[in-house]
Amino acid sequence: MSSHVATGAHDMYTRARRWLAGGVSSSFRAAVEPEPLFLDHGQGAHVVDVDGHRYLDCALAWGPLILGHCHPAINAAVRTQLDRGHMFGAQHELEGTVAERLVAAIPCADLVTFSNSGTEAMQVAVRLARAATGRSLIVKFEGHYYGWSDSLLVSYHPSLAAMGPRENPHPVLGTGGQSSAVLDEIVVLPWNDTQALEEALARHGSNVAAVVMEPILYNSGVIAPKPAYLEAARAITRRYGALLIFDEVITGFRVALGGAQELYGVVPDLAVYAKAVAAGFPLSVIAGRQDVMELMATGTVAHSGTYNGNPISLAAANAALHELSRPGIYPRLMTMGRRLADEARTLIARHDVPALVHQCGPVMQILFTDQVTVASYRALAACDSVLSARLARELRLHGVLILPDGRWYLSTVHSEEDIQEALGALDASLSRHPWR
Ligand code: PMP
Repeated sequence: MSSHVATGAHDMYTRARRWLAGGVSSSFRAAVEPEPLFLDHGQGAHVVDVDGHRYLDCALAWGPLILGHCHPAINAAVRTQLDRGHMFGAQHELEGTVAERLVAAIPCADLVTFSNSGTEAMQVAVRLARAATGRSLIVKFEGHYYGWSDSLLVSYHPSLAAMGPRENPHPVLGTGGQSSAVLDEIVVLPWNDTQALEEALARHGSNVAAVVMEPILYNSGVIAPKPAYLEAARAITRRYGALLIFDEVITGFRVALGGAQELYGVVPDLAVYAKAVAAGFPLSVIAGRQDVMELMATGTVAHSGTYNGNPISLAAANAALHELSRPGIYPRLMTMGRRLADEARTLIARHDVPALVHQCGPVMQILFTDQVTVASYRALAACDSVLSARLARELRLHGVLILPDGRWYLSTVHSEEDIQEALGALDASLSRHPWR
C-alpha cells in the first residue's frame, strides 16, 4: 500500500475551487473520497494521478473507456480526422458509415441519430415518444438514472422516507431548481415488478407515451432484470400502445454489441446509447423504429445541436465499433466479469463480511447488507452505502480505482494479471476494517 501523499491533487483542488464551482466539472465527481481525483495520464488499464500514484482503473471514466486508455486504434483514427478537420457543422461521410454499423448491430434500429450525451439523447427519445403517441405521461422507475434533465431526474436516489408507499410511490424531484411541473407528467414505479407495471398501465395506459428503463439496473446496485420481466414490459407496453424505451447508456456495447436488447432478446421501440459507443469521446445515439424515427426526418420533432455528429467523435466511434466487432470480445468480457465476482464472493466469505456481490457482464458491485437478495432500489437503499464508500476509498489506497458508489468496470484491456491485482487489493482492503 502506498503512503498516499496527495499534495499535488490537494493543491490543485484548492486552487480550482477559487474559480471552478465546487472544483469539479460534474457533481458526481465531487463524491470521490477523501478528495476528488486529479489524474495526470492513463494507458491501457492503468492511470497515474498528479502525485505519481499508479492505479488499476476499474472506474473507466464512469463507463466510456471500454477499450481502456489511449487505445492505439482510437488514437490513430482521431489523429487522422484531426488533420482532415475536427468540426464541420455539415454532413460528412463518417456519419453514414457509423450509422450503418449501428443499424447492423442494434436490434431495434431501423434508423439512428446522433447527439453528444446520454442526457440529451434521452430527452430526444422522450420527445419522440410523446410526438408518436400524442400522449404525455412517462413511466420511469425508482433508482433509475436517465441523465440530469428536468423531465427525467425524478426519484433517482430518493430517501426511503421520501418515496412513499411501494404500491404508489411519490415522484421525488432530483435537484434544486428543477421545475415541479414535471411531476405531473411522470409516473414512478418499482422496477422488476410486473404486477406494478401492469396495474399502472391499466390505470394510466391511455395517456402513457413511454415506459423508460435501464434494462439492467447498473446505476443502482447492478441489478439484473428478473426472468421474463423485460418480456412482460414489452408485452404490456405493446398492449397499451405505449413505447418501450431502453436506456442503454451503460449496457450498450458492454454486455453485447447490440446491448441488453441483444443479450435478453427483447427489442424496445427506441433505445439510447452513449458512454462506450465512442470509447471515451462524447457521442450518444438514439436508435429506433422507422415510423418513430421518421418524425425527425419529416421535421415533426426537432433535434438539433451544434456538435451533433462531430467528426472526431464519429472517427472514434467508427474505430471503437470495429474493435468491438472482433470475435471473442464479449465472451471474454463476460468471463472476466464472472471470474472477478466469483473470486470476490470467496474473499467476502473468507473475511466473514455480510455482503452480496452483484455482477452483470463486465460490471460488479459489492453490497453491504444482511438481506438475502437485493432486486430493487428500495432493497438497495437499505444496504450500507457508508461501507461501500469506505471500500472504494480503501481500494484507492491499495491502488485500485472503482466508482465512489462501489461499481467496478472491466474493459477489453484488463488482463488476467489485472484481475488478480484487483482481487489482491480487495483482500487487503477487507482485512483492514470490521465491515459490518
Ligand atoms: N442514462 C444512464 C443509464 C446513465 O448511466 C447516464 C450517465 N451516467 C445517463 C443516462 C446520462 O448520460 P450523460 O452523462 O452522458 O448525459
